Amino acid sequence: MAWILRLVKTGAEGDGPSTDVMEIGKPDDLADIARLGLSLAEAKLLLAGVQREIVAAQARGHVLRRPDCRCGRGVCRVKDYRNHLIATLFGQLTVRLPRFRCDSCGAIEGGVDWPSHCRSTPELDQLQAHLSALMTYRTAADLLEQMFPVGAGNDKQTMRRRTLRAGAALRDCAAVKPETATPAIAITLDSTFIQSCEDGERHLEVRVGNVETETGGRQVFGAVARSDTDIKVLIGRSLDAVGRTEGTVLTTFTDGCPGLRRILADAGIMELPLLDWFHIAMRLQHLKQIANALSADDPARVAAKAVIVEAVERLHWRLWNGKAKDAQISLDRIRAVMHHFQGEPDSRKSIAPSRRLWTALRALDGYLIGQSDWLVNYAERHRAGSRNGTAITEGTANFLVNRRMNKSQQMRWSRRGADLLLQVRCAVYNGTFGSTYGQKFQRTNSASPPRMIAA
Ligand SMILES: [Zn+2]
Repeated sequence: MAWILRLVKTGAEGDGPSTDVMEIGKPDDLADIARLGLSLAEAKLLLAGVQREIVAAQARGHVLRRPDCRCGRGVCRVKDYRNHLIATLFGQLTVRLPRFRCDSCGAIEGGVDWPSHCRSTPELDQLQAHLSALMTYRTAADLLEQMFPVGAGNDKQTMRRRTLRAGAALRDCAAVKPETATPAIAITLDSTFIQSCEDGERHLEVRVGNVETETGGRQVFGAVARSDTDIKVLIGRSLDAVGRTEGTVLTTFTDGCPGLRRILADAGIMELPLLDWFHIAMRLQHLKQIANALSADDPARVAAKAVIVEAVERLHWRLWNGKAKDAQISLDRIRAVMHHFQGEPDSRKSIAPSRRLWTALRALDGYLIGQSDWLVNYAERHRAGSRNGTAITEGTANFLVNRRMNKSQQMRWSRRGADLLLQVRCAVYNGTFGSTYGQKFQRTNSASPPRMIAA
C-alpha cells in the first residue's frame, strides 16, 4: 500500500492549493511487525517535510508586509532578497525575505517583525538547554539528533552556547510571587565542589540550597562562588517565589560551614541556622557501615566489634536526642577497644576497616566540636512536627550538582559555564523553565518533589 501525505491550505474562501509532502509505502498486512506503521526515520522525514512547506507558506505571506519608512513620506519597495538560515526542531530552513528601499528618501528597511539576528527558534533553544541541564552536552545533542530532524545547530558547542544564554536570562529574571502568603519556610544551604578547568584552581565551590513550605512548595537555587550570580539575591527571590511575607517564620539549616552562615546573614536572614540532620546522618551511616565491616576473626575482635557497633548506635541516639555533649563518651568507648584491630590487613581493593573507622571517628569528632552550638534536640523537634533539615533525602547538592557535574564524570568546568548551567538546572527542577525562551512562568510542580527528573 502507498499513501501520499498532502498538505492543503484552507481558508475562509475554501480550500487553496495543495502540496505533496511525502509518499509512504507499507506492506498491506501485519506479517512484518518491524514495518508496522511509521518508523522513526519516516516520522522525521514527515515532520521535516511539513515544516518546510508551512514555513515556506508563512514566508510567502510575510513578504507582502511592507514597512513604513521613518521619513513618513515615501513608499517602501522591494530592493532585493536575502536568505536567512534558521534552525528549528524540525529542520534547518532557509527563509527568503526581502529588504526594502524607500522611494522618497532612499533609506533601506529590513522586513517587518523578523528578528534577523536569530539563527534558531526559541523552542529549539529551550529544548536544547533543557536537555543539557539533565545530561552532558554531547548526550543531549545525540538524543535530539536521534529523535528529531533538527539538522543543523545541534553540535555540542551550540548546545552549550544556547544553554549558557538561557542560564544568563534566567539569572536576571524576577520571581513570580504567589498570591497567598506562607506562614513558615525552611531554608537549607549547602555547598559542594566541582573540578575546575581554570588556571590556578583545582576546584570551584558551588553553593546550593532550597526553600520549602509546609504545603510542599519548593524552590531550589544554586550559584558558583565568585561567579556573576549573587546567591543572596537567589535566596531572596526563592523565598519570594514560595510566598514569604513580613510575618513568615523562617528556619534555616546548613552543613555547619561558617561561610554559609555568613551568606544567610548577608541575605538578611537573622535566625541562627541549625545543623541539618542530613549531614550528621550521612556521617553516622558511614560510621555504621565501617563498624559492620570490621573483622571478627578471633574472640577478642568479636567482643570489640560488638562494643563498637553498640557505641555507634548510642552515638546516633545521643546526637538525635540533643545530647551532643555526651558524644565524647561514645567516641572514647570506641577508641578504648580499637587496639584489638591492630594489624588488620588492607584488602586488595581497600584499606582496612579499622583504619577507615579511625579516620571517620576523627573527622566526626572534629565536626561535632566545631558544631556543638548548632546541634539541637532533633528528636524533640521531630515529635513536635518540626523539620530537621531538607526534605530532599539525598541532599540538594547531590541531585542538583553532583549528578550532572561531579568529578566521577571527569568533567572540568569554567566558573561561568558551571554557574549558568546550574541556573538552567535549577529552573528545570523548579518547573519554571517555561515554554518561552528565557522567561520564568508560574510554577507547575509546586506540590511535587523534583526527584522524578532523572539526570
Ligand atoms: Zn523614506
